Formats: sequence, structure tokens, C-alpha cells
Amino acid sequence: MNILVTGGAGFIGSNFIKYMLSKYDYNIINLDLLTYAGNLNNLKDIADFDKYTFIKGDIYDRKLLDELFNKHNITTVINFAAESHVDRSIEEPEIFLKTNILGTQALLDIAKKHWKIEPDNKYSREFKQGVKFIQVSTDEVYGALGSDGYFTEDTNLAPNSPYSASKTSADLLVRAYHETFGLPINITRCSNNYGPCQFPEKLIPLMINNVLNNKDLPVYGDGNQVRDWLHVRDHCIAIDTVLHKGKMGEVYNIGGNNEKRNIEIVRLILNALGKEEELITYVADRPGHDRRYAIDNTKITKELGWIPSYTFEEGIKETIEWYLNNKDWMNDIVSGDYMKYYNKMY
Ligand code: NAD
Repeated sequence: MNILVTGGAGFIGSNFIKYMLSKYDYNIINLDLLTYAGNLNNLKDIADFDKYTFIKGDIYDRKLLDELFNKHNITTVINFAAESHVDRSIEEPEIFLKTNILGTQALLDIAKKHWKIEPDNKYSREFKQGVKFIQVSTDEVYGALGSDGYFTEDTNLAPNSPYSASKTSADLLVRAYHETFGLPINITRCSNNYGPCQFPEKLIPLMINNVLNNKDLPVYGDGNQVRDWLHVRDHCIAIDTVLHKGKMGEVYNIGGNNEKRNIEIVRLILNALGKEEELITYVADRPGHDRRYAIDNTKITKELGWIPSYTFEEGIKETIEWYLNNKDWMNDIVSGDYMKYYNKMY
């Protein structure tokens, strides 16, 4: 396979590329615009591998996509590239629409053109020799849950933030390219990820970094928002599973059966690092903040045989250790534009 991974310099994409190169002999072409969230330090261990190529560029750039498909004979697309942070989507929605929706559409069009997909193979249940487009999506497309219930693949789409609305739109385009043109696709919808190389605007690395620097820990609202957490490596294994076993046109939810309140996570990190709860500072809640997400992962576990391998306790311990052992990685990020953003938000 010649796999075009987009957004591969970000958190999940970089973990995915390292995982895939350690397991397979596939060629991986990483197309990433290197926005504030893209970081080549995430990939420095594999930068010189023969099977790996990095291209700086935009998924919205059709000419570049065309060249890449021709030059590398791309058989597979795994689309991680996105503007991914809800708070930023509230401040500046437009770039979310451009990258997440129009960028995805550009990728779909170029894949359709190069794979010579004809409308009449629409109902084929077979993928042609690994030819596949995987859209990496999120459980946030389903909106929020009350205190019980779970998101299944049949739950109505009801996004509440500009970020999740843009991801939902992209999912619908991916679905439409399958229905209309027969493009071989899968959509994965995963819960919150944590693990190495996550940008410190997201809850877990933000809190770890602030605890290590004795800074206040900004907790939105009452901190009782519930999220289902999955270690990034388990997400990578799930995408690998969908890539190899996913049935044509299907959506797969991915989740770790690991519901935690945000405030529980903050306390756990404080505890693990031996610091006091006085650092916790409650700040005004995010507008439209979803109260609870929880994934029903029955379909992927029963049909494709994937199960999460980490318990949350193991995963969070390992993650905290990673940030303790990689302070240079963090310092490189927080010494740049990051502080301007941080001071504006909190
Ligand atoms: P991230 O913000 O860490 O990385 C996104 C990457 O995309 C960055 O490297 C960035 O430079 C790149 N990028 C942005 N715009 C681009 C463009 N126009 N062209 C090319 N590259 C561009 O995000 P992440 O947390 O790694 O998430 C990856 C994907 O997984 C996203 O699509 C996100 O919606 C989805 N997802 C994330 C989570 C999570 O908990 N982080 C959960 C479920 C799904």
C-alpha cells in the first residue's frame, strides 16, 4: 500500500505513522500544513526512514494532491488533517470550514479521479487491493448525551460546536461520495484521545504542563463534564483494524469504555505529581459545552475484533511519565505563540 496520511505531524497522525511503520512495510506519505498543531519533533525518530516521506502542504491544494497521487501512486488515504480544537472553532470558525470541509472534499475529488471510481461499482462490497479512504472523525458529531445512554453508529448527528459541525459536514461528504460515486470509504468516530505528543491546549497535557510549572489549572464550569477517554495507541490500532477489515461504506465508533469527569482527571494528575488541589481554578464554562459523551463500541469489537488494550490507569501513568521525560518537547511548544493563545483563553 502507498498510504497518504494527512495531518500526520499532529498528535494522533504522528502516533499512527510511527505505529504503522513499526508494523508494516507500507510506504507512508505524510501531507501536513504544519499549522500551530503540526510538529515535526513528533516524527524525528522516523524522519529518515526509506518508507516515509514528508510533504509540507495543504489538503485544500488540489494541484499538490494531484501531483502526490501521481508521483506516489497513492492507494489509500487516511485523513487526520483538521483544525481540531473546539475553543479555537468558537473564536475563528472559518478556517475550520475551509480545512475540515473543503479540504476533505478536495481529497475526495482527487481520490475519486485517480482511483477511477465509477458510479456503477457503488454496491460492490469489496475493496480493490487496499484502495480505501478513511475519514478520521469524532464522537462529537453526535452532540451531547444526558446522564445515561451511549452513542451508536445510528445515533442522530447533532453537532453543537463549529468544530463538530465541520467534522459532521465532512463525514456527510465522505458518505455522499460513497453513495453517489462508489468511493470505497470508512468513517471512524472516536472518543477523546490522550497520550504522547498531544498539543497542550487539550485537557490532559495542559494540566500536566501547568502542574509541572505550578500554574493554576483552569477547569471549565463545574468540571463535571464527562468524556470517554482512549489511549492514542488504541485509536491507532483501531484505525489499522478498520483499514484492513472494515466493510465498504461503514461507520465505526471507537471508544474505550472509560468515562471520566474532567475534574476527576485533573485530581488524578495532581495526585500523580504530588501537588495540592489549591491549583484548581474554576473558569467560565465554554459556550455550548457538551455535558457527556460516551461511545457504544459494540460494532467494532464484535464485527472487527478490536478491543482497547490499555486501562485508563495504565495509560495515564505512562502518559504522565512521557511528559516528564520529554520536557524539551513541551518547552519548544510553550515558548512560541502558545502563550499568546493561553493568555487570551484563561
Ligand atoms: P491535531 O490538531 O493534533 O493535528 C492536526 C494536524 O493537521 C496538524 O499536524 C496540522 O498541522 C494538520 N493540518 C491542519 N490543517 C491542515 C491542512 N489544511 N492541510 C494539511 N494539514 C493540516 O489533531 P489530532 O488531535 O491529532 O486529531 C487528528 C484527527 O482526529 C482530527 O481529524 C480530529 O478531528 C480527529 N479526532 C481527534 C480526537 C482527539 O481526541 N484528539 C478524537 C477523535 C477524533
